[in-house]
Parts: sequence; C-alpha cells; structure tokens
Amino acid sequence: MVAKKLFVMLLAAAAVLASGLVPALGQAAVPAIPIGEEAAVRVYYPDDAMRIAVYLGFEPFVYETNYREGYHVMVLAQAEIDRLAALGLRIERDTVWMPPPVTGPLPEGITTIPSYPCYRTVEETYAAAQAIVTNYPALAGWLDVGDSWQKAQGPGGYDMMVLKLTNSAIPGDKPDLFITAAIHAREYTTAETATRLAEYLVSHYETDADAHWLLDYHEIHMMLQANPDGRKKAETGLSWRKNVRDNCWYSMPPNGDGIDLNRNFAFKWGCCGGSSGTACSSTYRGTTAASEPETQAVQDYMAAVFTDQRGPLDTDPAPAAATGLYIDLHSYGELVLWPWGWTSTDSPNHTQHQTLGRKFAYFNNHTPQKSYQLYATDGTTNDHAYGLYGVAAYCIEMGTAFFQDCASFESTIYPSNLQTLIYAAKVARTPYETPLGPDALSLLATPAGVPIGTPMTLSATIDDTRYNNTNGTEPTQVIATAEYYVDIPPWVGGALAALPMEASDGSFDAKSEAVTATVDTTGWSEGRHILFVRGQDANGDWGAFSAIFVNLEPTAVELERFEAWPEGSAMHVQWETAQEIDNLGFNLYRSSTRSGPKVQLNGELIPTRVPPGSPFGAVYDWIDGYRLRTGRAYFYWLEGVDLHGSLTLHEPVRVRMP
Ligand SMILES: [Zn+2]
Repeated sequence: MVAKKLFVMLLAAAAVLASGLVPALGQAAVPAIPIGEEAAVRVYYPDDAMRIAVYLGFEPFVYETNYREGYHVMVLAQAEIDRLAALGLRIERDTVWMPPPVTGPLPEGITTIPSYPCYRTVEETYAAAQAIVTNYPALAGWLDVGDSWQKAQGPGGYDMMVLKLTNSAIPGDKPDLFITAAIHAREYTTAETATRLAEYLVSHYETDADAHWLLDYHEIHMMLQANPDGRKKAETGLSWRKNVRDNCWYSMPPNGDGIDLNRNFAFKWGCCGGSSGTACSSTYRGTTAASEPETQAVQDYMAAVFTDQRGPLDTDPAPAAATGLYIDLHSYGELVLWPWGWTSTDSPNHTQHQTLGRKFAYFNNHTPQKSYQLYATDGTTNDHAYGLYGVAAYCIEMGTAFFQDCASFESTIYPSNLQTLIYAAKVARTPYETPLGPDALSLLATPAGVPIGTPMTLSATIDDTRYNNTNGTEPTQVIATAEYYVDIPPWVGGALAALPMEASDGSFDAKSEAVTATVDTTGWSEGRHILFVRGQDANGDWGAFSAIFVNLEPTAVELERFEAWPEGSAMHVQWETAQEIDNLGFNLYRSSTRSGPKVQLNGELIPTRVPPGSPFGAVYDWIDGYRLRTGRAYFYWLEGVDLHGSLTLHEPVRVRMP
C-alpha cells in the first residue's frame, strides 16, 4: 500500500515537470549557493538545440561539455542557476570537476602549463619549432610572418611564426596544407596537437614511408600559436579567447578586452549576425575587417601559399581539381566544420567539403557538419580561406573542454586527430577529388628486404568505406582496381608506368578488397626503395596513396663463370664469383635431366672463401666422381646460401660424359 502511494506521487511529480509549471527540480537538486559565491554544476540539455542555446547564452560560464551524458559543466551563481532552471533544465552540483588553477604570472623557466603537463607554453612551443629546424634543417623552416597586437604596441608580445615543413632538396611547386592553432587562446589542445604533428613528421621521415613522401612532395605550414598574447593569458588559467587589445572597461574572460580573431577576417566580416559589435563581447569582431595584426599575419600567409581558384560570386565553385587545404584547430565540441558559416545556403563546393569532412571525422570520431549548422558565424578563418581562394577549408573543434585534461588528450584526442591531419596532408593536392576514393591500408612487403633480382610480394587492403556516417551517409562503391608505383609517384616527371595489383580473392567485387602483386626487383639499385599504393573505386575515383619502404640487398653472389668438363672418369665442376657480399656458401646438385630429381653432391655446405662484407670473388673446384655413366649428359646446379638464409639457384650447366 505504501509502495503504491509513493508510485502515484512520483507520477504526479513527473506530470508537473512535464507541464513546465514547476521549473525547479534542478533547483531542488542544488543546494542554494550563497550570494557572492559560485559553484560548479552540471546543466543537462535535452537536445542539440538546447545544448547550443545554453552554450551561446552562457558561454563565459561553460567550462566543458560531456557529449556522451549530455551536460555542460558550468560555474554559476544562484541567479544564473535560477535562469537556467526556469527553462526546465535539469541541474546538478558537480563535485568532481576541478576549476583550472589560476596561477597568476608564470614563473621563469616554467615547463608546460601548470597542472596540464601535456601542453607546452608559447615559449616552449616556439622552442620546439626552433629545435625541429635545428635538427632537421633540410625539412623545416621557422618563418617570422608578423607581430602580435602586444608586440605591435611594444614592448612585450610575440612574433607571429609559421613552421614550414618540406624537403627543400626537392624543388617545385608543391600542394599546400596550412594549419593554424590556438587562434582562440584558451583552447589548450590545439597548439600541442599541431606541434606534435610537426614532430611526428620530421622524426618519422626516415622510418615511415608516408611521412617521407608527404615531406618530399607536399608543403605543410603550421602557425602553432595564432594568438600568442591571448594564449599567455590563458596559460594562467583564465578563460581567455580573444587577442589582448585594450578595448574594454572590464574583464571577465572570455568577455572583456580583445578582438575575437575568428570573427575579424575580411571575408564577409560582420555581414550576417555571426559576430558581435559590442567591444567586451567574447565574439567581438573589431571596428574594421582584419583590424588585428594576428588576423593580418594569417591572411597574408594564406595569400602567399594559396592561389585563387574560385570566381567572385558566392555561388562560383572552385573546380574539382582545386588544390590546397586549410585547417583551423579549435576546441571544443567534437565537430568537423566546413563553410559556410555566414549563411545557411550551401557553398558551391559543399558536397566535396562534406565528403572530406566525413573522412576526417572517420579518424577523430567527431560529428561532421556545415559550420552554419552549429550557429551563424562571420569573418571566420575557414570562410575566408575558402571564400577567397576556393581551397578546402575546415574548423576542427577537438575534444570536450577548453582546459582538456591530459589523460583524454593523450589517449584519444591527440592520436585520433593526428590520423585526421595525416590524411589531410595526403589529400592536400586535390582535396575535392581524392577523398572520394578508397584508402590504401595495411601495406606489407614480404620479405621486406631481398637481394636484387629476387621477387617480393606486395599486399594491401583497398577500402572505400571509411567515412563517418553519423550525419548523413557518404556513398561508397566497390573497388575497381589497384596499382603501385616504384620510387617515383605519378605527379613527378619521369615516373614509371603504374604496375597493377590483383584482388587476392580473384575478383574486384567488394568495397574492401585485399590486393597483391609480385614485385620484380630485377635491375633495381641497392638500398632503400619506396612503393606507392592506391586504389580506385567503381566511380573512377582514385584514393589517397599510402607508401612502404623496401630494402634491396646486394645480390649475395655475383657469379662470373660456372662450368664443368670431363676429367678422366670424373667431372670437374668449377665456378668463379665476382663478389660474394653476404654469402655463406654453396650447395652443388646434379640431375640427369633439367626437370629431373637433383642429387646433392656436397655433404656439408661448401663454405665461402671470401671474408664477410668484402667485395671480392673466388674460384671453386669440385671433382664429381659419383656414379657417372659414359655417354650420358648431366646437369650441374649451383645454389648460393646467404647469411640471411635465402637460397639462390643459378642456371645449370649441361655436360656429356664421353
Ligand atoms: Zn575556438
């Protein structure tokens, strides 16, 4: 009876809540916060629209978002809690969340952001870039491309710097990937992700074939700290977003001083209600387009690396073969965003952006969507890059918090976005075409090293299905063909013709196919070679290349002469080598016919007479008196055994016993 009464009461409470008459279950769950104090709370949102509405309305108070469980972590006074509760939102005290430490000015010699050991400071980021240039001078340059607002005022502030990665020994006009990071100062994960991408590429140049060809044939430009003055503020634990221009009478970051650099870009600046004209607002666009020196540095660099491939009208598309890719790294939101942000109308290259966006999101598991779907923005980096130059342009909102904890950064955010950015580097040549095609995965050469002239097996998987389909479904096709190139990719003059790969199961009829080829190494030079593999789908779209290193060892034995002649009742077999690098010894066989069974004549290996590694040859003699018959012809076979255990059977000689 008691139980039934309780159940009825609960039903009644639920009905009241649903009717919206009593807004305050949230209130009841949160003990009142004393006047003048704030507390961390979880504000649960029922849907995406409310998530965005709360975020936009209360942005200065939102510290992170738990997308899985559907709540914002906010630090609020009782008055704000009441306002949110009035919307019918469920609100709970968050006793787990720790506020970012406010440390004040950073002491000298600080290493990493206090309490966030995974994120380097501005100075440490610059030092890391300088170290890359010092250690890999042929692969990296560190370019001064302007001044921060503070530096332009002098004293203090920073140079605006770009780390440019490419193998300068290989000349020519190369496809460009330009990445900016931390243009919003408090977004800790962004600069570190870009810095680590640079470190990954140069440190893997000699060991990872993809890093190698990306640096040989592409240019990767990274502005690791696009708002260094602001970042310096954010390193102290302030929720600083904008630059540090002194233009507001009060300061409660992200509101207060500064211009929102990502609303200050010239293209569609202030056009469409996607920014604020109020000086203290967190999305203040400034008094004129590109008023800020940081904005000018990014815009000028875009102008230097990208050529305009799009007509003057908003509706003019860039051609399918347009080249160049721009990515602005932000946090947070677990989103991959593309133009437009200023209008709900699709850009003329919307579908192509969507395809690459779904590919990016395959790797980082974020939600791919058009920027405007989040909320209207104008004067942004990626609308500017696409709008002016027609290059593919993205804003990636990584992770779930501005001050992202290091555990999730190290375990998920960095490794997954590294894959996204490596894929971006691969497709920068034709970002509107290549992402339509399949990926080349799991490249394997067996054995990975062979003597020159010995065949090896190259295998891979060609997969057309790797898209994030959480926001619509990307069309995919069966694999039609696969091919590989030796040493020189097809965009370089002098490339050899593509060599075909076959479906391992005999026919190309699936969206993911194992493929294989027998690689003929005859005539190759000694040392390292690189094989480039790609696949094509049934729509005719070629996907991105993946590459693998293989090693060609010197032929174990270079045979100068191999002959035999009768000598009395025996046969004299003699051979002479030109060199025997890596040779262990020989086996000698005899057969009566070319295809007949071979009798091994030596009991133990006939050892090499050449010291290991020396480039000499020797002469060897063997007297065969074993059961020879007069008038009969014999085949003698010589087999080299090298130090790695590979066997090389040389062409036989035929001789008749008189
Ligand atoms: Zn941002």
